[in-house]
Amino acid sequence: MHSMFAHVAIPRSAPAPLVYRIPEAFEDAVQVGIRVRVPLRRRQATGVVIEVSETSGIESTSIREILEVLDERPLLPDHILALARFISSYYRCPLGTALATMLPAGLLRADTEQAEPTPKGAGTDLEVLPEKQRAILAALLEHRKLPVAGVLARAGAGSRTPLDALIHAGLVSIRRSRRDRPPRSEVGAVALVPEPIDELLERCGRAPRQREVLNWLADHDGPALESEVCATLGCTLSVIRALETKALVHRFRQAAAKKPRWSLGGKDVRHELNSEQQAAVDAVQEALADGRYQPILLEGVTGSGKTEVYLRCLEGALAEGRQGIVLVPEIGLTPATVGAVERRFGSSVAVLHSAQAEGERWREWRTIRSGEARIVVGPRSALFAPLEKPGLIVVDEEQDAAYKQQETPRYNARDLALVLGRDLGIPVLLCSATPSTEAAFLEKRGLARRLQLTRRVGGGVLPKVQLVDLRHEPPEPGEQGRTLFSAPLKEAITETLEADRQVILLMQRRGWAPVLLCRDCGSTLECPDCSIALVVHRRRHSLECHYCGHKIGVPIKCPSCNGTLLDAVGAGTEKVAHHLGRLFPGVPSAILDRDTVRRRSGLEDTLGAFSDGRIRILVGTQMVAKGHHFPSVTLTGVISADALLGLPDFRAGERTFQLLTQVAGRSGRGAEPGRVIIQTYHPEHPAVLHAANHDVTAFTEEELRFRRAFGYPPVTRMALIGFESPSIDQVRRAAEAAGRSLRPTPEGVRVRGPAPSPMERLRDRWRWQILLTAAERPPLRQALARVESLSLPSDVHRLIDVDPLSTL
Ligand SMILES: [Zn+2]
Ligand SMILES: [Zn+2]
Repeated sequence: MHSMFAHVAIPRSAPAPLVYRIPEAFEDAVQVGIRVRVPLRRRQATGVVIEVSETSGIESTSIREILEVLDERPLLPDHILALARFISSYYRCPLGTALATMLPAGLLRADTEQAEPTPKGAGTDLEVLPEKQRAILAALLEHRKLPVAGVLARAGAGSRTPLDALIHAGLVSIRRSRRDRPPRSEVGAVALVPEPIDELLERCGRAPRQREVLNWLADHDGPALESEVCATLGCTLSVIRALETKALVHRFRQAAAKKPRWSLGGKDVRHELNSEQQAAVDAVQEALADGRYQPILLEGVTGSGKTEVYLRCLEGALAEGRQGIVLVPEIGLTPATVGAVERRFGSSVAVLHSAQAEGERWREWRTIRSGEARIVVGPRSALFAPLEKPGLIVVDEEQDAAYKQQETPRYNARDLALVLGRDLGIPVLLCSATPSTEAAFLEKRGLARRLQLTRRVGGGVLPKVQLVDLRHEPPEPGEQGRTLFSAPLKEAITETLEADRQVILLMQRRGWAPVLLCRDCGSTLECPDCSIALVVHRRRHSLECHYCGHKIGVPIKCPSCNGTLLDAVGAGTEKVAHHLGRLFPGVPSAILDRDTVRRRSGLEDTLGAFSDGRIRILVGTQMVAKGHHFPSVTLTGVISADALLGLPDFRAGERTFQLLTQVAGRSGRGAEPGRVIIQTYHPEHPAVLHAANHDVTAFTEEELRFRRAFGYPPVTRMALIGFESPSIDQVRRAAEAAGRSLRPTPEGVRVRGPAPSPMERLRDRWRWQILLTAAERPPLRQALARVESLSLPSDVHRLIDVDPLSTL
């Protein structure tokens, strides 16, 4: 008999696609890129067809059939499917997982399973059952109904086997619900029936809540969203439903309104291009016209007009009938960039980002898939937008760490943009004021073109940078010999305020102080679940772990020795703002950090108040270094350049250099020249020194020499194998077993470890790691494959991070 087979990738399940027979009725409907419903062991799952073939390649009697076809058209174009395959093999994750990352949430969501006891189960004598089964059934009898994962956890069952035995014996039944539906992008709305309000009220009778809704709708004069009515009046949907039953209102569904986007208002201004900008636009256009892959590193100081360059290039791509992708690190922190693209391209722009509600994201995604949107702006996952034929990919701030995803698949969107560009034969524009060493290395090997924008648009000059050697500054009283505000910094702030200008101060840590130290016994208060000190937050009167969120009140006595001499050592944003209030009384200042963002509209409010001058001094973490444009900031102060330098990570120098250069660029964006003051205990460190001189080239040269000398990326290829477990013994044993599997070491691979990770404990998990470096990919892959083939105890988690951004 003639049969067709489909290879189906299923998330969180098999590492390789599974083969299913296509029933004859579905033969026309099944095609590559659509979702199907398939049986999986004793359950069902939703996956994506990635290949259709006439042979199964396996023993045909064991092949099961596809149950249902869910899409009419492929969800993803071919080049995105190819990219999924690349992610799966390069970053070492199941293909289904890669696809789930690319599609809007929900389309591949796993079913939920609820377990409940059957009448037979309820009447069973628990004592006759084996221990695990007894625990499961007891938990179900107590709670009546529980999610499968929950009941297994409650009963301490490591596997599903005892539950399956109960199901088989007819003592427990499972109810499954599917959740693989696209999210709703419609919302409920309500309107009064067209009759005078007095009549409606009369027919309504004495129902106070319902009358309230009628009156509100009458005042509102037009239809309203049901959610809006409920939120404003504090009522539930049942009130509106009751009104519908009485035929006093009618309810309908409408497409969710487009939310206001990120543009900060203002008109689109087409700047004249200077010769450097024109050269960059020409280079991109040439590659586009030739249909050839061309990475272009567009290096420009802040304010040099990179945005205008890529807006023009996008226009070029559209003129060729192609589409464009603009990647930004974090959309909430780059509203200016997104605003510029939206102002230029209006309704043909789709914005994707993680803060969107699922329905909203789904709607944007469909406008892209249908071809209505031709420019996509968003963070790293926007690279997977299902555009038909992209002609240009722009990666703004390509050096930013946010392009790396810190969960499986651990991809870097900057690197994938190059892969996609190569597959499609199109230019890829990597923009940065401080190119990553990876990008600089590409150029050094002749694989990328480098174009520089050296002039500030509008003739502005780069700010003057002054280094303040904190070793020569008198210590601040009560600051353990440290200085927060050196004399030159205080003086500069005074002068800037007197000139009616604004100040940005960079302080990398949030909270009041990073450490609470006991002066009696010398111990610091650490998070019980992570090997890191708890941070003192004064406003919330708490000690908090910035890694896992553990939070306690500030103790009065030392938990180790009962001593009372507890000292908050070091400084964070709160303390800096506090001292500002003391040094410059009456001058309004504000903090911009994760705590600000966490508050509802905290980010917009703070930026707004700083933008219109209600706030004169803005203290913040690296968030203040991102692309905001504040023309009347003429002074940027770095409270301490040293916080990142001390990290035991090979990128510490690069991170410091980038941060200092970026924050320096915040100063003097208007007509007046700006100044920058960097306080440091290491004024001779290359990262600090070259940042002060705005010398990107000198820094990259020196950094690449360092990476070469010690065999670090990008000169070598690196992969990190991490092990995590609640058990300190298990994690060590697993890491050591992996270490043994790497002996003898594959040729060309250097193995560092196994050893405890620098952050040895995180979120109540012990961590070990092995670092692999090699000059070439193949031996590295071979080494990884050996470790992957090892089986692990169930409470040890293994992660593989190819091209890790951090080795902490
Ligand atoms: Zn103590
Ligand atoms: Zn913690």
